[in-house]
Amino acid sequence: PKITIAIDGFSSTGKSTVAKQLAKHLGYVYVDTGAMYRSVTYYAMENGLINDDGFNVKGLIHQLPKIKISFKFNKSVGFAEVYLNGINIEKKIRTLEVSGFVSKVAAISEVRHKLVEQQQEMGKNKGVVMDGRDIGTVVFPKADLKLFMTASAETRAKRRYDELINRGDEVKYEDVIKNVQERDYLDSNREDSPLFKAKDAIEIDNSNMTLEEQFDKLLNLVKM
Ligand code: C5P
Repeated sequence: PKITIAIDGFSSTGKSTVAKQLAKHLGYVYVDTGAMYRSVTYYAMENGLINDDGFNVKGLIHQLPKIKISFKFNKSVGFAEVYLNGINIEKKIRTLEVSGFVSKVAAISEVRHKLVEQQQEMGKNKGVVMDGRDIGTVVFPKADLKLFMTASAETRAKRRYDELINRGDEVKYEDVIKNVQERDYLDSNREDSPLFKAKDAIEIDNSNMTLEEQFDKLLNLVKM
């Protein structure tokens, strides 16, 4: 029988890479909830709600009904890409600039409420792998399998740095590690749905694991 798999953890732990693989292997739906928070952030940046002068939280809350996020499977990449009001923004949400604001946007209760509702709807049928920060604690507290991924901040920053450089972004390693640490702090300390390991989640430190080892470990847990 199909199950619901919740994968939580700190930023850049490689959750989404292994989650995508697992979903593909099992024929499950994969939902990247971080992409949803990033999309709201991107909307705010594009619409003058976040700029060097500050962050118009009230304005963003007011405009939330205008923000429609959807996913569409792209065969050539093998996963569902994110769309904002019908436009594919999969690549635009991965910049260090979006990463720099996203944890502030994700701390707004109204934003969380809207996205959590949509996530619960998307995962209402079993056969789902969902990754994020609050999947096993808030979105699907009754998930059949909960994983909590960790890795050292250095390992994570190096992974994120390589990813950004590979796609051609000009970034400095110091800025990437600063962002990783800042998001760890903000995500763990916000009032609404802070990031923490659910009591019944299995912790996996993948600092010294290859992708293949992670995949095998997860698959074994699914089969148990
Ligand atoms: O997973 P990713 O690093 O793309 O997530 C970006 C940010 O979105 C996180 O740092 C966090 O602030 C927020 N997020 C969240 N809850 C989730 C998923 C992501 O608050 N379920």
